Amino acid sequence: MRREDEYGFEKIIEVYDQKTGMQGVCVIHNTARGPGKGGMRMVPDVTTEEVMGLARAMTWKNAMADLPFGGAKSGIKADPRKLTPEQKEMVMRAFARKIKDVIPGQYIAGPDMNTTEKEMAQFADELGTPMACTGKPASVGGLPHELGSTGFGVAISTRTAVEHMGKSLNGMTVAIEGFGNVGTFTMKFLTEWGAKVVAVSDSKGTIYDKNGLNYEDLMKIKAEKGTVTAGKGEKLDAAKLFELPVDILVPGARPDVIHMGNVGNVKAKIIAEAANLPAKYDVEKVLMGKGVLVLPDFVANAGGVISSYCETQGWDADTMFRVVEGKLRNNTKLMLERTKDHDTRKAALDIAHERVSDAMRMRGWMK
Ligand code: NAD
Repeated sequence: MRREDEYGFEKIIEVYDQKTGMQGVCVIHNTARGPGKGGMRMVPDVTTEEVMGLARAMTWKNAMADLPFGGAKSGIKADPRKLTPEQKEMVMRAFARKIKDVIPGQYIAGPDMNTTEKEMAQFADELGTPMACTGKPASVGGLPHELGSTGFGVAISTRTAVEHMGKSLNGMTVAIEGFGNVGTFTMKFLTEWGAKVVAVSDSKGTIYDKNGLNYEDLMKIKAEKGTVTAGKGEKLDAAKLFELPVDILVPGARPDVIHMGNVGNVKAKIIAEAANLPAKYDVEKVLMGKGVLVLPDFVANAGGVISSYCETQGWDADTMFRVVEGKLRNNTKLMLERTKDHDTRKAALDIAHERVSDAMRMRGWMK
């Protein structure tokens, strides 16, 4: 039993498969709003406690995204670099069989660290239902993450925040950390809507041009040379990106990039958290104290999980983009209307708690 509070945890399933040696855990935190939805990671040092924390976070993220999903997460203890593709598939299939009783009523899986659309296809295949997971390849009825739902959602949330301030994106300057799936699509859409992206970074450093960077040029340079820093502009350290004089800062790659050591140098007025946990709450509070508008990660980067929901409904890509837009706009607005003392994270968490509590009361789980 792992009762934490009135919300969870509902179920913690630790499994071991003697034949393959597979060990894993599936944690279901709360299913009041629907089946627990959360990714399935494959890492050698995954712990039940880590998966519990991630499952709980998914309850609030899915509720804030206003999806009929609860929160859950899975971890498989394995080092994919030491497995052949066949062994990796055997491990995935063994895990699927061990947790089949909770799928899809209480748990719907999805890709996470070291699991891709291929593993999702195998997972669904093993259980004989496409409802077992999302993030499947398009060829087996999935909505691939290459469509850019998360970056699109980050851009929508940012535009909504700008409009809420009574301003327009037109001419606003932006710096984006990371030029992967999330960073590229965030740049594409913000640029299309009139913002001027002046800095972008990857693991090799930052490229900066105060007159604006060109999206197509950067995509070409990244594909040809492997780094955005080979493009036209001033080359700076990766960490310098967070201190540039821009209107909007998008941390979109790693955790804890804004910390007590550099928060005093952040000049942006809006921070759109595309990555997970790019700043701890106490660091966010320093920013909020200066009047910075922080779009918390679990609000701004929910485009991916909203796309997952669309996949479970069998909707096409156009419908998915419309749903991501509608939900991100409404939820961002609601959070901003409810925000007191610039504490957007508290406002969003309050909304998520209310939505889950309401579902629990309706079901008779809570007075
Ligand atoms: P990705 O692997 O596609 O891209 C990551 C990018 O970060 C790469 O361009 C890489 O060069 C860059 N990077 C690595 N080290 C860096 C450094 N030191 N400085 C600057 N850039 C660096 O990953 P992604 O899917 O774009 O995910 C990025 C973040 O967003 C992660 O925190 C992820 O958990 C989060 N996220 C992603 C999704 C999604 O749907 N992809 C959804 C929610 C949250």
